[in-house]
Amino acid sequence: MVSLAGVEKHFGALHVLQNINLKVMPREVVVVIGPSGSGKSTLCRTINRLETIDSGEIKVDGNRLPVEGSHLARLRADVGMVFQSFNLFDHKTILENIMLAPTKVRRTLRKQAEVEAMELLDRVGIAAQAHKFPAELSGGQQQRAAIARALAMRPKVMLFDEPTSALDPEMVNEVLNVMTDLAAEGMTMLVVTHEMGFARRAADRVVFMDRGQIVEENTPAAFFDSPQTDRAQAFLASVL
Ligand code: ADP
Ligand code: MG
Repeated sequence: MVSLAGVEKHFGALHVLQNINLKVMPREVVVVIGPSGSGKSTLCRTINRLETIDSGEIKVDGNRLPVEGSHLARLRADVGMVFQSFNLFDHKTILENIMLAPTKVRRTLRKQAEVEAMELLDRVGIAAQAHKFPAELSGGQQQRAAIARALAMRPKVMLFDEPTSALDPEMVNEVLNVMTDLAAEGMTMLVVTHEMGFARRAADRVVFMDRGQIVEENTPAAFFDSPQTDRAQAFLASVL
């Protein structure tokens, strides 16, 4: 569903992505972990072209990502993205936030978009908050709204970049539970997270990044129980 081959990216002198080769198969959940600054967010951002790459190739569902133009909007719609900061529109209700992209980009009729948005809000457990503004919701509820908003475009793959890092501890699980449900329903997912419990439980595969490189890639059990490299061992020792 997603494939990166030989992807290279620099920020000036910083070689932020070094020969990245990664495939995410349909219905697979890949969790990316690694130290701060290792390039995890940049990796996510290149996948839906929020960042350009210097060389290599990125494909989503077999389509090579174009640099610009109308095809870009359509390909971006295939990739749902959820950030650490929820990025909801403050002056719109939760329902309006969810309806925005389907009506503007997909040209779904308002009535239909509203029905679908309510279904999504129900699915993430916040249907009762539909007519409230983002500031009236807890962080966990806002992040669940952000997930619903991404799902409203019916993406083929969902990217999550540290979706629970900005949340108070008691709200982390309500978001992880929504993600676990999505995974169980067969959504293809690439998840950057420091939640090792979630990685162990929900990942089909763990990818460990350090200093712009994929250093190790394994099943969660193999990775957490017997990391192969010194760098992975040192990272796990620092977080577990
Ligand atoms: P991670 O998400 O793993 O913490 P990032 O992908 O955010 O890492 O960042 C990787 C490196 O690239 C960091 O050193 C960061 O400072 C740098 N970086 C990220 N975005 C930019 C940018 N737009 N311009 C310059 N440097 C950047
Ligand atoms: Mg990051």
